[in-house]
Amino acid sequence: MTGPSPDVLVFDMDGVLVDVSRSYRETIRRTVERFTGRLPSHEQIQELKNRGGMNNDWDLSYVLIRESGATPSYEEVVEEFQRIFWGREGDGLILEERWIPRPGLLERLASRCRLAIFTGRLRQEARHTLRRFAADGWFDPVIAHEDVERTKPAPDGLLKIAQRFPGRAIWYLGDSVDDARAARAASVPFIGIAAPDRGELKRLLAAEGALVVLAGVNELEELLA
Ligand SMILES: [Mg+2]
Repeated sequence: MTGPSPDVLVFDMDGVLVDVSRSYRETIRRTVERFTGRLPSHEQIQELKNRGGMNNDWDLSYVLIRESGATPSYEEVVEEFQRIFWGREGDGLILEERWIPRPGLLERLASRCRLAIFTGRLRQEARHTLRRFAADGWFDPVIAHEDVERTKPAPDGLLKIAQRFPGRAIWYLGDSVDDARAARAASVPFIGIAAPDRGELKRLLAAEGALVVLAGVNELEELLA
């Protein structure tokens, strides 16, 4: 049996290609702790993320800090966040990231369609991680924070990719409601990613119009088979 076959697979990075529980997520926690004296739980962060409109972890940290009554400026929060995450030269918590695709997955996918990335990461942070896991050559284009005028849930990054591949079937894989909304706004089919222990997220992604919600990117081949 032949499944549906997109021409271009566009991936969100965080939570899809990269496990960021010990990098971005931990940076949010430590940034919030720095200004409030309290370490927020992973559940608290996920809850806020599920509300949507905050795909940027700077915004998310800022909101958590302000909600707890502390009043640093946005710039101070961003500076502290970057100090923890990026460090001095990419030697911060970014080094705690883990690559999710199993060996061979990208090779096999690339043999059947184009692979691209649309991420809210800064370009430098996207490239750093892709290089580290020797995945830099698989994705073209890589659309990062600086490459779009409006961030997700705006569809700008997907529209840019669609322009590059006119008339081709494009799919977007993401793990947040903002990813799903960006896909819908770009009229691009959306594949949700939600780990089995993220029941609420799975429900949300389905409600936002996901074609299907997978437990992880390594299940993608079964869908295409
Ligand atoms: Mg993500």
